[in-house]
This record gives sequence, C-alpha cells and structure tokens, in this order.
Amino acid sequence: MAHSKPSSSADAAAQLWGEVSETLRAEVSQDTFHRWFANIKAVALDAKSLTLCLPNSIHQIWIESNYQSLLRSALMLATGNGREILYVFDTALPAEPAAPEDDAEDAPEPASPKAPVSNGLNPRNTFGSFVVGTNNQFAHAACSAVASGPGKTYNPLFIYSGVGLGKTHLMHAIGHQILANKKNAKVMYITSEHFTNEFIDAIQTGTLVKFRKRYRQAEVLLIDDIQFLSGKERSQEEFFHTFNALFDGHKQIVLSSDRPPSEIANLESRLVSRFEWGLTAEMQAPDVETRTAILRKKSEGMQVKLSSEILDFLAEKIRTNVRRLEGGLMRVASYASLNEGKMPSLERIEMLLKDILQEEARKAVTIDQIQKRVAEHFDVRLADMTSKRRPANIAFPRQIAMYLSRELTRSSLSEIGEAFGGRDHGTVLHAHRQVRDKMSKDDRTRHVVSFLDTQLQK
Ligand code: ADP
Ligand code: MG
Repeated sequence: MAHSKPSSSADAAAQLWGEVSETLRAEVSQDTFHRWFANIKAVALDAKSLTLCLPNSIHQIWIESNYQSLLRSALMLATGNGREILYVFDTALPAEPAAPEDDAEDAPEPASPKAPVSNGLNPRNTFGSFVVGTNNQFAHAACSAVASGPGKTYNPLFIYSGVGLGKTHLMHAIGHQILANKKNAKVMYITSEHFTNEFIDAIQTGTLVKFRKRYRQAEVLLIDDIQFLSGKERSQEEFFHTFNALFDGHKQIVLSSDRPPSEIANLESRLVSRFEWGLTAEMQAPDVETRTAILRKKSEGMQVKLSSEILDFLAEKIRTNVRRLEGGLMRVASYASLNEGKMPSLERIEMLLKDILQEEARKAVTIDQIQKRVAEHFDVRLADMTSKRRPANIAFPRQIAMYLSRELTRSSLSEIGEAFGGRDHGTVLHAHRQVRDKMSKDDRTRHVVSFLDTQLQK
C-alpha cells in the first residue's frame, strides 16, 4: 500500500469507503463489484475530496466512464454531500482481484476493534435505522425479541419477503444488537450461497473439519437467502447437521428467504420441517405512509434537503421495493447536490428515474382487472364485486379484491371504495385488515391471495 503510516484521514477514508462500497455492492453485479471495486482503497479524506487508490489509469477511465454517477450517488448517500473524487495509482495493487475471502484475511483493518468489518454486518443496518410499519411490525418485533434473548425465544426465526423489503437489514440489526450487548458474542452472518461456496472449497481443499468447527462454534448464525440451497443436496445435508448442532446447543439461528419454507423448491423435507419449528414471519411491501417515513429517515443525514413534495412524489411512485425507493432517492439527491442544491421539478425527476418508474409500472394493475380476476377465481358474478349483497361466499372474495386493490394499485382507500360500489374508505381498510389477519392464520387464504397476486402481475 502507498500509505505506510495510517493517518486519521486515511482511517476516516477507509471507513467511509467501507460504507460506500456496501452501497455499490448492492447496486452492481457481484462480478462487476469484484472486478472493479473490491480492490480500491481509499487513502485520504478531507472536506472537499475523497482520494481513491487504484491499480492503474485504465481502472480510472473505466470507472469514470461507467460508474461515475453511481459512485457519486453512493458517496452522497454516505456523507450527505458531493465530494470530489481524486485518484492515485499503486501498481502494487492487484488489477485482477483475489477472492473476496482472501481480501478480508490479509488486509486487517486499521485498528478499530469496536467495529469489526469482518463480521459482514453493514454498520448502517441497525434497528435504529429501520422504519417499522404495518407491513413489517411482526417481523421487526420477532427480530427484536431474538436480539434481546438469543436462543431463548424463537428458534429458529424464519423471515421471508419479496426482494428489497428489509430482510438483510433486520438480520444485520440482530447481529449488531447482540454484539452491543455482548462484545465478544460469536455472531456469524452469511448468505446460503456463501455457505455453499465455502463448503465446496472445504471439500476441495480437504478442510471440512475446520469448516464444520467454524460454523458449529457460532452462538448466533444468521443465514440469508436460504432459498439458494434449493436443489443443492450435499449443501443441504451439511447445513442440516450444522443446524442440528447449533439448535441442540441452544444457539440462535435466523434464516431468511424470498418465500416460506414449504414453498422452496427442492428443499429436503427434514429441513423444511426444522425451519418451521420456531417462528415464521412474513414482510410485505410498505404502504405509502411507511414509504414516506423511510424516505424521510434516509434523507435525514443528507446535506441536500429534498422538499416534501419530492419525497411524497417518490413515495407515491415507487411502491414495491425499498431498495429501489432508496435508489430513486439517491439519484434525485445527487442530482440536486450537483446543481447546488436546487430542487429538480417533478417532470425532471420523472426523466431522471425513467428506468425505475418503468420497472414499477410493469406491475401496475387496475382495480377492474383485480375484480374480474377475483370474481372468476371464486366463480361469483362480476356485478357482485360492487353489489351490496353480503353472503359470505360473495363478501369474502370482495374483501380479497379490495385487499389486492390496495396492495397492487396506487389508488387511495376512497378511490377503491368508490370502485367497489361506492363504499367508504373505512370499509376498504377493514377488508384489508380482515384479509391480512386471515392470511397470517390460515395457509389456504394466504395461498389464494398470493396466487391471485402473481397471476395479476404477470
Ligand atoms: P432484502 O434483504 O429483503 O432484499 P434489504 O434488507 O437489503 O432487503 O433492504 C434493501 C434496502 O432497503 C436496504 O438499504 C435497507 O436498509 C432498506 N430498507 C428496507 N426496509 C427498510 C425499512 N423498513 N426501514 C429502513 N430501511 C429499509
Ligand atoms: Mg437480502
């Protein structure tokens, strides 16, 4: 490395770069990340600029022509203002990256024992930065209970949701809280993909014993995106034994997935049943109020203050994925900061976010389509969606249609009520709650709703 004597500017730079690269990692493919970003070192930081050390000038040209705005946005998100990015070169840095694990081992962080970067927990993903809404309060409460008494309440805890809805965030939050309560707690966070890769490596290098020992000494195992174990028989078998060893030792296990255990294809039934031993918590997409609260919270640290008109606009338009919502916010904020804090117009924002909005629009469904599809499915007349008739065989499908209208369209509660034969917004809210409660208690309802949901979004 070029800087042999770490100064505080270098420490601050390294720490900031840690945050920035976490954001980048989420935005680019794994391959891109390792090829272009994993080997960058940040070497200096002051009020105006961040200096990055790269292997050579090709690296710089490539980054500037492909990832400049992404890099700026990520920096913006981490620091709240748009610093200039300077580059220096160090030919001693490998241009072709080593495997990520090696990186972590041979580059000990400049002494900072309280925030071990090696535990894989993003320092920004804490309970404090997580916004609780009706969509995630159950999962949040479960995670919080597990974090206060690991191994004592729900074991395992299984969280599932669609992408970008906070699973990884909550798992990291559990890890942080446990470490805050007990500094040397053996918390392991890992994705199931990583588990599989390490397992394969261990087989190849004849280090299975070491591999097993490492996992089985964990006090808390947070294993993310478990659906990737699907179809990997030997990894499943290995994980089965890891699971049993930890569970029998009363160690906490937290799993996440994009679907409930029973719906993960090609997952051994003995694993499915173990995953269901403890508590299963589902998260949905946040409603508009929660989305607004998330945007407010995320923009708190930024130096550019976006108007509430802009935040409302973003919350209204980006509904299905919090990561995307955050991406939209970042783009608008970095645009404003490059324009001396001048707020872009909503038309301008529509242009800036064109691809994001297109992604969202693909899932736009109309209330009419929902009513039609639901009526068909339950074999009731379309007219019954709007009629005042109330026998259960009609009322329940109607409630499901209202529920789906609230979930899948951008219509307000009153607009939905109007479309269902002039009912008021309270009726829609009530229907929504009824269906949601029923979904949490009754698998059949949950399956019907999620089936209709997928059908409608095709
Ligand atoms: P998942 O693992 O479910 O795909 P993540 O946990 O990676 O989703 O979340 C995606 C992004 O959205 C992260 O930056 C995360 O901090 C943010 N996020 C998701 N839900 C919330 C929330 N309720 N409050 C604050 N940030 C959230
Ligand atoms: Mg995740």
